Amino acid sequence: MTSHELQKIVLAEPRGFCAGVDRAIEIVERALAKFGAPIYVRHEIVHNTYVVNNLKEKGAIFIEDLAEVPRGATLVFSAHGVSKAVQREADARGFTVFDATCPLVTKVHVEVAKLAREGYEFIMIGHKGHPEVEGTMGQLDHGIHLVEDVDDVRRVQPSQTEKLAVVTQTTLSVDDAAEISAAVRMRFPRIREPKQQDICYATQNRQDAVKLLSKQVDVVIVVGSPTSSNSNRLAELARKLGVDAYMVDSAEELRPEWLAGRQRVGITAGASAPEILVQHVIERIRALGAVAVRRMDGITETVKFPLPKGLKLESS
Ligand code: SF4
Repeated sequence: MTSHELQKIVLAEPRGFCAGVDRAIEIVERALAKFGAPIYVRHEIVHNTYVVNNLKEKGAIFIEDLAEVPRGATLVFSAHGVSKAVQREADARGFTVFDATCPLVTKVHVEVAKLAREGYEFIMIGHKGHPEVEGTMGQLDHGIHLVEDVDDVRRVQPSQTEKLAVVTQTTLSVDDAAEISAAVRMRFPRIREPKQQDICYATQNRQDAVKLLSKQVDVVIVVGSPTSSNSNRLAELARKLGVDAYMVDSAEELRPEWLAGRQRVGITAGASAPEILVQHVIERIRALGAVAVRRMDGITETVKFPLPKGLKLESS
């Protein structure tokens, strides 16, 4: 590629870290500083390879099964949240637990528990096997039914429809979730819906930004790991809008042929992808011939979540 073929990089705004990811990483870092290595973390603290490797170097050990954690160890639950069974097992094994579940996921857990006490059953819209879905469904022993698409909505069989509520994974495609929710409402017209949607502010804002970005560029690069739900949704959304989109976990993965002949390259990042990776991608695209970087206009996020007790700084 020559410099006159590729002119401009446009950065989505907002992009990258959300408040829940910031908090989760800080919990592991502070636990390491306060208690020393190793700190055990159940599941990847957030779905990002760079973040996980960085914390591994500092002394975090990532595990999936609590049987791998020695008695008396300090354990952090990932931002995606855990089931009641995992919580009970951690208590029974005597770990010191710090819960890095995003408060917006906890909000869904609290709502599920409250309505279940009132006799509700649930339809959950989400992706099978995602740890957030396992954690939310695992708030109850039964009575929560997963639907991944409109076909599932047709097939789902709750045991009663008098007291039925819907909950949603926080990182879904806003448009797909709206379509599935509409099908749920159609089949169960009296279903109870949350006052405020479960899809979180960060997911909504990053998807809104990609919609605007896609109008301004010829190709979109999404910085994010393959396991990151919200990053995948960003790439998918750009493609739906008719723009080629590629996900990269690091700048090295970027292939020059993706940019060949493109005048304007858009860059965004999933909620778990650190800004340093975006900067690496910018450097690489500049080395391939881009001559200007422009930041899109967009909203500034000010959400911040408090740390758990026991990890706050003396002054905070
Ligand atoms: Fe919380 Fe949303 Fe970030 Fe997930 S993407 S950690 S729900 S703010």
